Amino acid sequence: MTEHIKCPNYKKCGGCQLQNLPYERQLSFKQVKCIKLLGRYHHINEIIGMENPYHYRNKVQAAFTTKNGKILSGVYQSSTHNIVPVDSCMIEDKIADEIIVTIRKLLKSFKLKTFDDNTFKGFLRHVLVKRSFTLGQVMVVLVTGTTDFPNESKFVNALLSRHSEITTIVQNVNNKRTSLVLGNETRVLYGDGYIEDELMGKRFRISPKAFYQVNPTQTAVLYGKALEFANLNGNETVIDAYCGTGTIGILASDKAKRVIGVELNADAVKDAKVNAQLNDVDNIEFYEDDAGKFMTNLAVTGETVDLVIMDPPRAGASLEFLRSLITLSPEKVVYISCNPETLARDLSFLTRKGYKVRKIQPVDMFPHTEHVEVVCYISRIK
Ligand code: SAH
Repeated sequence: MTEHIKCPNYKKCGGCQLQNLPYERQLSFKQVKCIKLLGRYHHINEIIGMENPYHYRNKVQAAFTTKNGKILSGVYQSSTHNIVPVDSCMIEDKIADEIIVTIRKLLKSFKLKTFDDNTFKGFLRHVLVKRSFTLGQVMVVLVTGTTDFPNESKFVNALLSRHSEITTIVQNVNNKRTSLVLGNETRVLYGDGYIEDELMGKRFRISPKAFYQVNPTQTAVLYGKALEFANLNGNETVIDAYCGTGTIGILASDKAKRVIGVELNADAVKDAKVNAQLNDVDNIEFYEDDAGKFMTNLAVTGETVDLVIMDPPRAGASLEFLRSLITLSPEKVVYISCNPETLARDLSFLTRKGYKVRKIQPVDMFPHTEHVEVVCYISRIK
């Protein structure tokens, strides 16, 4: 097992809360957390960790600012607006980190300013890099406070000449007072404006604003468990709720009669539809909607659903979603959760309404951080 390394930014950054523990102990910490929160529903399988728990993130984000005349890039110190300078991070993709450092140097030589949140003047706010580990494609998103991009083509060429691995560069304009990184307007400066990744034998398009799992190695483990728990027989109707770019539903489609994906983010739904085509999947449909509303409407139509795969954000599922799940009454539910606290709350509801938890599998998607992902198999009591 890899020895644990201490990062010089450990205390200031706050991103890797468990970094002071050797990896094996981080895993037992997460196992215990799951037992405490979920143990009353079922035995907890042993958490699946990573063989090499470093540089696993395929998506890296850096905030930019200027302090005492010096341009800094890095991460916000937890619960503050202070930027901790970071040039390399032990959980981030190395190439992405190098690109961000290059951009910081280029800003200086192009005399481009960083954006100032107080005066609302300046140019660059954030940089987002997404990289496909399997196909090598790299997307750079320059998040700017203004639409105007002085010396745009020269800047783009300078960046490309230093990093030939970049396949697309996008400008995203965020001129709002917000803690969100990305704004509404995107402009492609180079390439296609998206990248593709290969995962578990399928191909997926990733655009700047769509959610895509950040740890591809463990995503395969997580999805693999979800599909194993789903145990599809080819004749079933499946809902992929909170489907993002449709990854899980597309992977399940080979063994399902019909898959219905629902997702709130319009860009993700667009990607999902393209992804179905890219993989020649014709038994899947995607809908842009709130998962709870969609399920409620579906329940009214009397549709028969055999399996619901759900992968909500940290807040868990809405009560509306859970109520309509009970009305739809699928035999099987596979719940993928990035927050065992809300999972415990939602399981409490489902287990009082005729469902039983049959399997609980934690997966370490975010080594060194306190976060733990759990996939859970639930089925109707006969
Ligand atoms: N299953 C996907 C995405 C999981 S992340 C994957 O594995 O890649 C959770 C997703 O839920 C995000 O794409 C987010 O945009 C979406 N989401 C958040 N709130 C939602 C809601 N109320 N209804 C539907 N989708 C929602």
